[in-house]
Amino acid sequence: MKFVRVALAVPLMRFFDYILPEQMQPVIGGRVLVPFGRQKRVAIVVEFAQETDIPKEQLKPVLNVLDDAGLFNDDMWNLLKWGAGYYQFSLGDVLFSALPVKLRNGESAVEKNKILWKLTALGEQAMLSGELKRAKKQLEALTELTKNPLEKGNNEFSAAIWSQLKEKRFVEEVTQPLQIIPWQTRLGGKEIMRAEQRLTLNKQQALALSRLLFHQGFAAWLLDGVTGSGKTEIYLQYIEEILKQDKQVLVLVPEISLTPQTVQRFQARFNVDIDVIHSNMNDSQRLQVWQRARTGQSAIVIGTRSALFTQFKRLGLIVIDEEHDNSFKQQDGGWRYHARDLAIVYAKQLDIPIVLGSATPSLESLNNVKNRKFKHIVLSHRAGAGSGLKHEVIDLKRQRIQHGLSDTLLRKMASHLEKGNQVMLFLNRRGFAPVMLCHECGWIATCTQCDKPYTYHQHQRVMKCHHCEIQKPVPMQCGACGSTHLVTTGIGTEQLEFVLQQQFPQYEVTRLDRDSTVRKGALENHLSAIKQGKSRILIGTQILAKGHHFPDVTLVALVNVDSALFSLDFRAEERLAQLYVQVSGRAGRAEKQGEVVLQTHYPDHPLLQQLLHDGYHAFANSALQLRRQMGLPPFSAQALFRAQSKSSEEAEQLLQQIASYFYDWKNRQNMPDLQLLGPMPAPFSKKAGRFRWQLLLQHPSKSVLQHALGQFNFENEVKSSQARWILDVDPQDL
Ligand code: ADP
Ligand code: ZN
Ligand code: ZN
Repeated sequence: MKFVRVALAVPLMRFFDYILPEQMQPVIGGRVLVPFGRQKRVAIVVEFAQETDIPKEQLKPVLNVLDDAGLFNDDMWNLLKWGAGYYQFSLGDVLFSALPVKLRNGESAVEKNKILWKLTALGEQAMLSGELKRAKKQLEALTELTKNPLEKGNNEFSAAIWSQLKEKRFVEEVTQPLQIIPWQTRLGGKEIMRAEQRLTLNKQQALALSRLLFHQGFAAWLLDGVTGSGKTEIYLQYIEEILKQDKQVLVLVPEISLTPQTVQRFQARFNVDIDVIHSNMNDSQRLQVWQRARTGQSAIVIGTRSALFTQFKRLGLIVIDEEHDNSFKQQDGGWRYHARDLAIVYAKQLDIPIVLGSATPSLESLNNVKNRKFKHIVLSHRAGAGSGLKHEVIDLKRQRIQHGLSDTLLRKMASHLEKGNQVMLFLNRRGFAPVMLCHECGWIATCTQCDKPYTYHQHQRVMKCHHCEIQKPVPMQCGACGSTHLVTTGIGTEQLEFVLQQQFPQYEVTRLDRDSTVRKGALENHLSAIKQGKSRILIGTQILAKGHHFPDVTLVALVNVDSALFSLDFRAEERLAQLYVQVSGRAGRAEKQGEVVLQTHYPDHPLLQQLLHDGYHAFANSALQLRRQMGLPPFSAQALFRAQSKSSEEAEQLLQQIASYFYDWKNRQNMPDLQLLGPMPAPFSKKAGRFRWQLLLQHPSKSVLQHALGQFNFENEVKSSQARWILDVDPQDL
């Protein structure tokens, strides 16, 4: 008898054996359908076996073979295997998470003929006769068809609309034969880059590009250039050269900066096929992009974190823009990989270059430059127009403050606005106020599921918990003493908007945060109001900090940075510095003098001082020294076990067992440098009704920590528990 060993999308660190019926011929990396419990599940074949340890009576046969070719090329297969090992995660989950949803669900991976909807003569008549006046959607669909071909099952109109139209014979289905045309063929004789769009590089840029071009094979480049120094221009011209060698390019960008503007800049520059992977794509579109890259139909793929798992016919370069950005690390859900770190492993394996660009490189990357793992390219001047910035710290201690705004800041705002410019206020807290309390007895309106105060949202007249997203009506009375005298404390973006509308009634105010941009198209509308100069005062959270250029903003203010200065998270200062520089980059892009101000109660904080006087790199050097002294990453490796349960004791006990195992291991192996911290309650110790605990492992050497984790077998070492746990290797938030 022959067996197959398959990976399933289950959180177990093992494979499953099935009998392979004689007539079936699956392939490694291809999918099969197998019985699993009472279900049928899609599985991926990992290997063939002649023997198995599973008792005969428990073995079941494979039901069906879904692919006659593997879905992963060797490079991706190796990367995913490496990634499952490094992050100690089930290979099954990893393999499945790297596939488009349609393939996870067992749909065909072979590109099918496209079926297009075609307008019939009857349909044309109907459009003119006005008989569809009442059926607006149907008329819309027909109108759209006159402009663009629409693919069946892959367009914005519902299946019901089409079946109604088909019934009336206004449309018919036509099959478009499958064509796989390589991007080079589609380009025809046209030039890869539209030459008239190419900028003449300045000296620093030209030197940078020639260093990139001179190098062959793998290299990790840190392209460390101030905002506006022309990093993107370098990517574009480097990409051109790679495409000329008949190779494809992958560009990864943070979630927040994958804007139409970003994509347009690439599309305007190149004549080649560019595919974008963004969050509002449907599953058919995702599958299509996956297939196009794999078959060499697209030349460039631009996307966020998970676009790393796009497979290419011939990948020649990876670009990661804003490499320091947190969104490259998968923070929740299953496999907590870091797309930047994995991309470097991938590039090395493929022996191709990878360019990491940032105006504020992560301390990890700067350290990698120091220890010569990365090559360093520095761009120190702005390429386009733009003048210097004035920086100022406003000491909140000596000021009258109204709703979080000092008199000095208000005066500055007035002066910039009077000159016809825009001002931008940055505050990382949405809602009206983060706390509502009773003026009589001090009771605080708190989410019982998370033990944290509700945020008061005045606009929607609700209380929201920002941890579990639960919403409650605004209380009329104190929950303890019954008093009706409830007040809010603290300031959110809604409150700033409210106050500034009163302070500056003559100017329009725009607020950009998660709440003001939920409606489809809202973000675009706000942005266009800002671009046209209609809106003069901009208030926002991170959404405002990245990816958008506002040339008429001359004053940028960080309303409050104190929480970052005293956070328990050792990365908080690095993030604040990055944010500060990014936000500053929004101001004074044009010929106008820009000004950046920061309000704080702690103007003398040493790292803040250094950042303001000596700039980001001086800050980063000091911060790195501190990290070295304290043995924190990048001078040590960390792994965090997180557990949660409805019972606090259970979560704690589960981690206690894991801790005992590692204490034991440490003694047996004589590894005094392995540090264990915890179990201790997580920073948000309760969320959505579950108690959260954590256990941190730290060792100066990554490979020793990897070794320790690799030997740990959860199923053997830990008694079963109601608590759920996950392991986060290289955690980004502690
Ligand atoms: P970064 O990506 O470093 O923020 P960009 O590539 O977006 O910088 O460049 C900033 C601005 O400078 C853009 O408007 C760009 O068109 C312009 N720019 C870049 N390189 C040049 C150049 N060599 N000559 C003229 N303008 C340039
Ligand atoms: Zn909650
Ligand atoms: Zn009260």
